[in-house]
Amino acid sequence: MNISDSERVRSVLERIGYVWTDNEEEANLLGILACSVRQKPIDKVYNKISQWNRWKNKRNLVTFISGCILPTDKERFLKLFDLIFSMSELSQLPAMIRDYGVVTPGALDSSVTAMPANENIFQLWDVKPNYQSDFEAYVPIQNGCDKFCTYCAVPYTRGREVSRPSQEIIDEVAHLAARGYKSITLLGQNVNSYGLDKKGEEITFPELLRAIGEAGNKLQQKFWLYFTSPHPSDMTREVIEVISQYDCLAKQIHLPLQSGDDRMLIKMKRSHDLQKYREIVQDIRQLIPQATLFTDIIVGFTSETEEAFQNTVEAFQEFKFNMAYIAKYSPRPGAASYRWEDDVTNDEKKGRYQRLTLVLKRHAYRYNQSLVNKEMEILVTGKDRKGQYLQGLTEGKIITRIESLDESLIGKIVPAKIISAADFSLTAQLA
Ligand code: SAH
Ligand code: SF4
Repeated sequence: MNISDSERVRSVLERIGYVWTDNEEEANLLGILACSVRQKPIDKVYNKISQWNRWKNKRNLVTFISGCILPTDKERFLKLFDLIFSMSELSQLPAMIRDYGVVTPGALDSSVTAMPANENIFQLWDVKPNYQSDFEAYVPIQNGCDKFCTYCAVPYTRGREVSRPSQEIIDEVAHLAARGYKSITLLGQNVNSYGLDKKGEEITFPELLRAIGEAGNKLQQKFWLYFTSPHPSDMTREVIEVISQYDCLAKQIHLPLQSGDDRMLIKMKRSHDLQKYREIVQDIRQLIPQATLFTDIIVGFTSETEEAFQNTVEAFQEFKFNMAYIAKYSPRPGAASYRWEDDVTNDEKKGRYQRLTLVLKRHAYRYNQSLVNKEMEILVTGKDRKGQYLQGLTEGKIITRIESLDESLIGKIVPAKIISAADFSLTAQLA
């Protein structure tokens, strides 16, 4: 979500003449799009801004902050940053910079056009993003969340659920695919409740997927369309059926479970139980057996007993996730659970994180092992960290090292034969 927002911020700033630099120390304008889901990234913001404020003694520098910010932090950020705005006010950023007394580079250039001021998210979506990659793109389809899970900051930072007009989404996806983008991800906090805020006027999420599938069928270009995150309580069989029917709808599903214990799910106010999740997974295995399954888990939520945690371990044994983003519970000011005692110690949270990771590894490894000797398509995304191999992703988003250094393949989907497997990755040879 932040990558997607930052592509729009960058586009607005470039319109008024700013030029991107990779060197933080030479920038005249520095900003952060914050994430408030956990405390750690917010701690990093405080460290960054104190460093930037020290730099201000030596040179001209303007700082801004936007993104997901809780009210308690906002008050402090007001004193620390020069500019603060919500993403729906992005189009006012040029005026804010000007009012701050900065002559923006583009002010001297009459061809740079000003944008109309607005207060709403629809105009944020109208900003044409400056995509950071020429083969992977993120397309926001919705903003905000109405679910109010008890641990979560999102409803307080992003507000209520608002769906973006479907025609804009379909056009943006078709445009990207026609330009050769290979991995396109629809973004939202609850993608599968898409359209429900405009019932009767807007299409539903499976209808949106179908429309993209149809558009994909008409294009000559191959691409994989992902979405993140759907919510189990709105996950219908229709969504899974549509994915099974269109080649361009990627066979990878990220479905956050959060806990495998029904009592914890109630305390989290997740509005689904384990049985509901099980039925969705059964539908996935039946209709798209080749799909990989990813999830999100919180360990050490308030009052999580060893027994409750064991139910999550059992859920991992049952669902055999390919990947799980496991987070240690972090109390968020303003969220309902903030009033409850954070009664699982950090050591216990860490221990549960590690034990769950071991179970995850075991199943992910078994699955990866089953792919050895198979030919698969890999989207080549770059070189590996040591620069010795190419690196890419399968359609199911399993990281794959390819024994080649042919950089002309970056950004392409290529056939390759899997020759070995590790816990979370594969090695392949070009076929
Ligand atoms: N809308 C998505 C998740 C959005 S937040 C959903 O409903 O699943 C992304 C992930 O951050 C969550 O899935 C959760 O695992 C984690 N998360 C959210 N709040 C958290 C908190 N207070 N402490 C730890 N992890 C949290
Ligand atoms: Fe947060 Fe729950 Fe909304 Fe996901 S569904 S963004 S976890 S409140």
